[in-house]
Amino acid sequence: MVAHPVSEAVQPIITQVEVPAGMLGPDPATFEVRSFVVPRPDGVVLVDVGPPSTGKEIEAVLDPLGATWSDISDIVLTHAHLDHVGGLGEVADQAPRAVVRAGAADLSEIRLEGRAIEPLAEGDRVRDLVVLETPGHTPGHLSLLDEANSLVLVGDAVGSVGGALSFGPAAFTSDPVQARASLERLARLAVGRLVFSHGAEVDDPNAAIGHLLRSSG
Ligand SMILES: [Zn+2]
Repeated sequence: MVAHPVSEAVQPIITQVEVPAGMLGPDPATFEVRSFVVPRPDGVVLVDVGPPSTGKEIEAVLDPLGATWSDISDIVLTHAHLDHVGGLGEVADQAPRAVVRAGAADLSEIRLEGRAIEPLAEGDRVRDLVVLETPGHTPGHLSLLDEANSLVLVGDAVGSVGGALSFGPAAFTSDPVQARASLERLARLAVGRLVFSHGAEVDDPNAAIGHLLRSSG
């Protein structure tokens, strides 16, 4: 288990993803994706695993916590996109104790050899984190509410670029109407922090969601 008290509720693992020409635009591109180590009193939750070959970056976050791979109790996948789940096979191999979970509607899109992926639904708990169904980016997209720290890990329900919020690219959004409704719901929770999988946190995130919804109507 975690040997030392932990001051930060969520520990980001930031990975750069190279995108070949023709995927997001005519030119090759680079973007960042964040997975998170979330230490709880009774386990260590890994939220998303990132693209392939993120093992060293994950270890660099576990080490200062006094935790190892075998302390990871749960792997929660916010959704099935490859920048979030591409490294699942190797990470699951490294973390033999972890129960792997994802939203039921995304399960068929996630591949993992030799280990079951357990479905998650609204109101389920992973340790003391509460599962919120926030579909739209993908059908089974999940967010995780940490009531004790008044924060939500929002996955790709919304992201930040240069201090402003934005929806993900339309080409990677399964249902834009659902995506808006999920975002309205996240703002209504009125938690103190929204933690994005793409981009840094912003001040007053709930007001920023309001601004995004008004400006993208
Ligand atoms: Zn995504």
